[in-house]
Amino acid sequence: MRTKGRLDGKVAIITGAGSGIGRATAVLFAREGAKLVMADIRDEALEETLRLVKAEGCDAIGEKTDVSVEEQVKALIGLALETYSRVDILCNNAGISGSLAGIEDQDAGEWKQVFQVNVMGAVFGIKHVARHMQERRCGAIVNTSSVAGIRSGAGGNAYSASKAALINFTRTAACDLGGYNVRVNAVCPGLIETHMTKPIFDYAREKGKEGKLGSRCELRRYGTPEEVAAAILFLASDEASYITGQALPVDGGNTASLNLPGMKV
Ligand code: NAP
Repeated sequence: MRTKGRLDGKVAIITGAGSGIGRATAVLFAREGAKLVMADIRDEALEETLRLVKAEGCDAIGEKTDVSVEEQVKALIGLALETYSRVDILCNNAGISGSLAGIEDQDAGEWKQVFQVNVMGAVFGIKHVARHMQERRCGAIVNTSSVAGIRSGAGGNAYSASKAALINFTRTAACDLGGYNVRVNAVCPGLIETHMTKPIFDYAREKGKEGKLGSRCELRRYGTPEEVAAAILFLASDEASYITGQALPVDGGNTASLNLPGMKV
């Protein structure tokens, strides 16, 4: 017999659920008893996550959604309410990395696209779920930001700026919604092996330098999607009932130190 799950009876929306951190979060939430409404821009990837969570006995649906398009996000939340009559948790996790172009080669169109997905995707999600959560006077929202939003050196210019914007939007949304008992927090992952970071991992492995990946972290290693999912679960669960407006690094201690080259054994 299954023991009581930490999300029993809750309905959670997860964006970017087709891959990496979003998929790991979906599987963990499924194990903890949530009903899931999962979204991703990639149809087939979403189907695979749907298969995985259903194998956990989860009641779930998947809907192809581009979070950069407000009407699609609104429709996703409408679908969740139509299907399950409530939304307890929203994970704004979908994101794109953009390029690593030098400062002199910045492209305005790319900046707009990175902000449209990484920032506006979360804005649209919170905007369209807010009234429902306000009326019920409960809800937990977790945005996936990044260590790139705290320090430089972990992504391109537009990506880092978008993740910093997402951290501050997390705070302002938490202030707007706190009076309704709706909590808004963010996780800030460090280097995690996912589809997004595959080129970094492929390159390092090709050069025989896999051991160097994550070596500047205090824990001397990179992280897994499951380790980020565990932090998202905590912030989404009632265990975090007095935590709001916070951005939690999940980074092996990376942002805890000055990280000066040559200072580590
Ligand atoms: P991932 O494996 O690429 O998963 C992200 C998923 O979101 C992909 O399926 C992606 O599809 C999808 N997506 C992209 N744009 C979308 C859109 N407009 N609407 C809906 N879905 C969209 O990457 P991940 O590493 O798990 O990333 C999840 C989140 O963690 C992102 O916000 C990312 O910035 C953040 N993060 C990751 C790391 C890391 O080291 N991996 C570190 C810090 C923060 P496509 O593959 O087609 O883009």
